[in-house]
Amino acid sequence: ESIVGKIAAGEVVERPASVVKELIENSIDAGANSISVYIKNFGIAEIKVIDDGEGIASEDVLLAFQRHATSKIKDDRDLIRISSLGFRGEALYSIARVSKIKIITQHITENTGTEAYFVAGTLKWQKPAVTKGTTIQITDLFFNTPVRRKFLKSSYTEKAHIIETFQNYCVAYPEISFSLFIDEEEILNIPRADTIYERVLQIFGSEIVETLKFKTISKDYYKIELFIGEKPKEKYKKLQLIFVNRRPVREQSIVSTIYKAFKLNYPQFLIFITVPPQDVDFNVHPAKKEVRFRNCQKIHQLIFKMAEFQYKSSMV
Ligand code: ADP
Ligand code: MG
Repeated sequence: ESIVGKIAAGEVVERPASVVKELIENSIDAGANSISVYIKNFGIAEIKVIDDGEGIASEDVLLAFQRHATSKIKDDRDLIRISSLGFRGEALYSIARVSKIKIITQHITENTGTEAYFVAGTLKWQKPAVTKGTTIQITDLFFNTPVRRKFLKSSYTEKAHIIETFQNYCVAYPEISFSLFIDEEEILNIPRADTIYERVLQIFGSEIVETLKFKTISKDYYKIELFIGEKPKEKYKKLQLIFVNRRPVREQSIVSTIYKAFKLNYPQFLIFITVPPQDVDFNVHPAKKEVRFRNCQKIHQLIFKMAEFQYKSSMV
């Protein structure tokens, strides 16, 4: 079976928030220090992401929009040793097919960059341009797939998904500064932070963070950092976030282990799990939201161990 065949195929672009997710991941993979996201009309009119990452070399710009052409997976071994967020080389291709995309990019090693415009995946024009990093502007999302467009939820719901997605990457990457504008209004503007603790504080505020204890445990290249507490008031939204190797994921077994280990009625938590890349598989779901651990027993044991020392550990 070919490598491409081993890659769980499927639609990457379910809703505007999926586009935001893929573009932010690409900016992170490009080593950006700063990422700005602009949204208009809940992502249908425009999604623009500006980064100051390494950019794309002129000869690679068109390739980046072809399926699997730039896939970072070169052989079978790479499939289990993935450290960048992207690895299928199908996000830009899939997004381009259902929208109009303008890209302006310049690779750090070049004196001139490229500007190009695609409609439904077809290159319309391209010209040299001078810039720093990469700007990708998507307009008219789903213009050629009216059914998909019709099945989007309310603008309120789609906006909430965008904000949640954005926030997840802010939490996972404290060393990057992020800003988000929706319909010209600044929703979030977060300077770089030195620690995950500082970043969590920036995003959720001291009122919530003060109700959480911070704990950390490491063993055999496994590391868990956990903010945990009881949900303080009815008015607060439930906060339960899981990150594995800095990817936001959904993993019900981790949630239930936390419930069991900490014996809280309404647990609030953020858990950051770091495992050796070969011990985790993100290739289960097209949007990489699910994980499969080689040794989930170990993670569950470590969570239980953290709960045992509940009263001994302290806030950082
Ligand atoms: P993947 O991230 O899985 O490789 P994508 O379709 O998301 O596939 O992106 C294709 C390629 O385009 C990437 O591998 C990368 O080389 C390049 N690319 C995309 N976005 C950026 C960016 N913001 N900065 C630099 N390179 C980028
Ligand atoms: Mg990608």
